[in-house]
Amino acid sequence: MPYFQQFYGLEVICGPMFSGKSEELIRRLRRAQIARQRVQVFKPAIDNRYSQDCIVSHSELSLQARVVNSSAEILDLLDDRVEVVGIDEVQFFDQGIIRVCDKLANLGKRVIVAGLDTDFRGIPFEPVPQLMAIADYVTKTLAVCHRCGAPASRTQRMSATRDRVVVGAVDCYEARCRRCHDPDLPDQLTMSLKDGTTL
Ligand code: ADP
Ligand code: MG
Ligand code: ZN
Repeated sequence: MPYFQQFYGLEVICGPMFSGKSEELIRRLRRAQIARQRVQVFKPAIDNRYSQDCIVSHSELSLQARVVNSSAEILDLLDDRVEVVGIDEVQFFDQGIIRVCDKLANLGKRVIVAGLDTDFRGIPFEPVPQLMAIADYVTKTLAVCHRCGAPASRTQRMSATRDRVVVGAVDCYEARCRRCHDPDLPDQLTMSLKDGTTL
């Protein structure tokens, strides 16, 4: 069999919720499996929305994944022979994930990560900006604005909380275009609740 040099390095897939990040990650990882490359997939413990041991897309594609509590655990669990490493919901990892991804890419592995580029206020969601900066390839995915149908690059939170991380039901979030995105919406909801009005 002829031997083809495989691509190695860091690929970042980022965008708002519902933009197809997990779909795209699963697509790339499945193709690697079809090419009979050794693949290992990780996701952070915080993302328990659907399944404990799978990454799942809103369109119900899924792929087996190992749940980890920290970036260091990825190195502990990594099989040396693995050629492709996939990580979903990378925004929920500690900053150590930047060094981990860089190290694995430098070891000759293909590292593909997917995550939110901005939070519900539209502010860059660390460590994704740093990962984008050191990546070899960056793919920005767009969703469809829930309000007007335009291409959507922002995530709108629909519940009254300012916590950055609210892993949640799909009905807590909407994809929005720039024009329809309102970073102050959670505050307005809180105020209206204090006024006694309902959502
Ligand atoms: P992400 O990982 O970026 O949150 P997923 O890959 O899980 O996105 O889901 C993408 C799928 O979500 C789309 O293929 C589509 O079936 C569905 N979907 C639901 N709402 C939207 C929306 N507003 N814009 C685009 N896709 C949507
Ligand atoms: Mg996803
Ligand atoms: Zn819109």
